[in-house]
Amino acid sequence: MKNKIIDIVVIGGGIQGAGVAQAAAAAGYQVTLLEQSSLAAGSSSKSSKLIHGGLRYLENLDIKLVRESLHERELLLKNAPELVHRIPFHIPVYHRTSRKPWLIRTGLSLYTILAGLSQSVRFRSLPENEWAQLDGLKTDGLKKVFQYWDAQTDDRKLTEAVMHSAKEMGAEFLCPTTFMKGEKNETGYKIHYKTGDKTNQLQARVVINAAGPWALSVAKQFTPELPVIAVENIQGAHIELPGLLEKGCYYLEVPEDKRAVFAMPWHDKTLFGTTENQYTGDPAKVSPLQQELDYLLQTYQFYFPERRAEILDAWAGIRVLPTANGSSFKRSRETHLVTDSEERPTAVSIFGGKLTVYRATAEQLMRVIQKSLPQKTAKADTRNLKLS
Ligand SMILES: Cc1cc2nc3c(=O)[nH]c(=O)nc-3n(C[C@H](O)[C@H](O)[C@H](O)COP(=O)(O)OP(=O)(O)OC[C@H]3O[C@@H](n4cnc5c(N)ncnc54)[C@H](O)[C@@H]3O)c2cc1C
Repeated sequence: MKNKIIDIVVIGGGIQGAGVAQAAAAAGYQVTLLEQSSLAAGSSSKSSKLIHGGLRYLENLDIKLVRESLHERELLLKNAPELVHRIPFHIPVYHRTSRKPWLIRTGLSLYTILAGLSQSVRFRSLPENEWAQLDGLKTDGLKKVFQYWDAQTDDRKLTEAVMHSAKEMGAEFLCPTTFMKGEKNETGYKIHYKTGDKTNQLQARVVINAAGPWALSVAKQFTPELPVIAVENIQGAHIELPGLLEKGCYYLEVPEDKRAVFAMPWHDKTLFGTTENQYTGDPAKVSPLQQELDYLLQTYQFYFPERRAEILDAWAGIRVLPTANGSSFKRSRETHLVTDSEERPTAVSIFGGKLTVYRATAEQLMRVIQKSLPQKTAKADTRNLKLS
């Protein structure tokens, strides 16, 4: 294996790394993915598990991201029916809700248009006589309930399915294998990695840093260091509570700070999240803070006063967001691809992004690195590849 030349070496087996491995293998390239722990061990198993357009991004006028996400949602519903399913969402509007019914109606109308006006995603206002059936949702002060449709998945299983698809097309998966350092040379990068006690090397034409919350530190392990952008790690916690939400998901406004949180059915239980707090520690050690547990539990109790408010489990994941002042809630969820060269990129770092758009990101990345790779005959198009 020593000094073997691989077209593309990917560092990180989250959804982004798996997505790139799949797109590279589909395009006919030899690709090796290095994962230090297990597939989806990082953020890709700690998300809210929604395959969605991101209704609230419309408030920030992130139209491009919403349109792309809605498009990817439809592809996933088509290609991964066992893993991604439509689910109804409910937005209750109370007297004290800051987002008024006309604003939500406008947002949902735009969302439906961006989704291509498909009949299956139309929204409606729920008649008052149906409110009592909404899983014990507080009806005191309730003015309106909107219902629309998005999708849910199992993020870990989705990542595994994408990697499985990549392996079927010849991708190599080394795990547990830790990337140690990379050195620029004439062919691309020499990659040093460790499997158990053994250190080994690979020669890559192109290297992809898909290390998610570790991406900044991985960039520093290269000589010369890979260029980066200003990003920070923001942790987000979820809690699991007893009892299934029979009617689907709830999109709720936290009374104190007006952030949006979700209540979702999850394996016969209720999943509730999320939060946003800056995190500067080791990404492998992120865990929910007491203040996050209190914040989530109080909000849950506020909206579902009759349900059992007992935390059965809690966990946190990390978002990579552009550094900026003010609330992280309002920061862009766009994906940033940062290359070592504009003319002939041989290293690309992926910062930020969404589970939902992993395929589109990988497709875009392949376009970026195409000019640095030999011509190959494509084996498949990821837009049509089935995932199971
Ligand atoms: C709380 C929360 C909720 C979210 N909800 C949603 C949602 O509902 N819908 C949605 O679309 N998106 C959501 N997201 C965003 C989504 O989860 C992330 O964008 C996505 O999972 C990031 O994937 P990734 O592959 O970049 O990172 P990760 O999944 O973290 O993968 C990085 C991998 O790199 C590996 N690695 C690191 N260093 C090395 C090394 N030296 N050698 C080898 N391997 C290494 C790690 O072990 C890890 O497995 C959410 C994110 C959070 C935090």
